[in-house]
Amino acid sequence: MQTLNRRQFLKLAGVASALAALPRAVGAATTPARVVVVGGGFGGATAAKYIRMWGDNVQVTLVDTNATHISCILSNLVMTGALSMSRITLGYSALKTNHGVNVLQGRAVAIDGAGNTVTVSTASGNRVLPYDHLVLSPGIDFIAPPAGAWDANLTPHAWQAGAQTTLLKNQLAAMRNGDLFVMTVPKSPYRCPPGPYERACVAADYLKRKGRVGAKVIVLDANASIQAEPVAFGEAFNVTHAGMIEYVPNATVQSVVSSTRSIVTSARTVNNAKVLNFIPNQKAGAIAAGLPLNAQGFVPVNPLTYGVAGYPNIHVIGDACAVPASDNKAVPKSGHMANSEAKVCADAIVRALAGEAPDDNVTTNSACYSPITARTASWLSANYNYGDIYDAAGNVKGKGMHRVDLGEADIIGGDNYEDMFTWADSLFADSFM
Ligand SMILES: Cc1cc2nc3c(=O)[nH]c(=O)nc-3n(C[C@H](O)[C@H](O)[C@H](O)COP(=O)(O)OP(=O)(O)OC[C@H]3O[C@@H](n4cnc5c(N)ncnc54)[C@H](O)[C@@H]3O)c2cc1C
Repeated sequence: MQTLNRRQFLKLAGVASALAALPRAVGAATTPARVVVVGGGFGGATAAKYIRMWGDNVQVTLVDTNATHISCILSNLVMTGALSMSRITLGYSALKTNHGVNVLQGRAVAIDGAGNTVTVSTASGNRVLPYDHLVLSPGIDFIAPPAGAWDANLTPHAWQAGAQTTLLKNQLAAMRNGDLFVMTVPKSPYRCPPGPYERACVAADYLKRKGRVGAKVIVLDANASIQAEPVAFGEAFNVTHAGMIEYVPNATVQSVVSSTRSIVTSARTVNNAKVLNFIPNQKAGAIAAGLPLNAQGFVPVNPLTYGVAGYPNIHVIGDACAVPASDNKAVPKSGHMANSEAKVCADAIVRALAGEAPDDNVTTNSACYSPITARTASWLSANYNYGDIYDAAGNVKGKGMHRVDLGEADIIGGDNYEDMFTWADSLFADSFM
């Protein structure tokens, strides 16, 4: 993925008619428009960059709790020791120097939707930032298990990368012969549909390579079946890692006791696992909690603007949003998709600031590469067009992002493993540089 200018992006999105009016002068006056972006992950960093690139006379402030973003993408390879943490640590300096984005380290703690301000808690006290448009890309938050005593410092999820990844890495490294690595797959929708199955594969591969005789990975899936790449992961579980991975579907978590690494699910109970990688069910990041939420806890958005009903100047992108889609063809929560949504949102904001309607001919796409062993990987990609979306019976149920194609690797191979790094570096650069 290369950095796109607005003309290239619109062309890719199939919007020839929109090309005439570039670049857009936002607000003829001298006062710049103000956009605040909360969350400097794949969605937020991309939105901040592209609003600056495509808008004229727009101030963009990117707020993140941390000084750098640690990518979940490739983080399973940090867990196995194949990559270092620095390989997945992405800074904000290029956004500042190349694109003039203001970066503020702090936690957004309150939104005043009527007053158009967001309050940010920083090391030097609270700052109140006024905005003309607010973009939220806070990622996910976790839903605690119904019972027990869950402590992520004892049983890491490692579903937000960083200290959690290091903790899980150390626990995996401490496994010995006959030990159990027990992990859960959250109920869909969750961040990165293939991610948990990928983790099971690389954990099993690690244990095999270290010669841990009798050690095993147990996958407790809250869903009825594998949620992404069922053919590739079916082969990985039953052939590549045969005897090392036990897959248990329909395993709804009932309780977790982290101190004893014990878990009760509707399908299986395990006590005293050596490692319990409990990945909880998910919802939108906490700062979005005051906005309208769907039953799963994500923010429904208009896929032409990523705007939120009832909040004309607030946009939610990335894992935190819920995009209307055809039944059984949901828009995945992925970094690639967050990057894609951010560009649609950036374009809509630049148009709004220029007094124009949003483009109604947009596309988004997603890709995930999954390492299966230390040398092989599979991949998955999907493209979505705005238009009619359908229920399971094939009847039109409204407008949204309809999946027009789905590609999957036909073999688990070494070339895919190499391509994974090219793809990831290109996504990292398009989002952060
Ligand atoms: C193991 C694993 C593997 C994955 N592999 C892939 C893959 O191959 N391909 C792919 O496309 N995706 C992959 N993903 C998914 C991808 O990481 C996420 O979908 C992506 O990070 C979502 O981007 P986002 O901007 O919504 O959230 P994030 O990238 O999580 O960014 C959220 C940011 O918001 C900040 N934040 C949150 N709340 C606040 C607040 N109140 N104030 C200030 N800052 C705040 C956080 O610090 C964080 O930096 C993977 C995920 C995992 C766990």
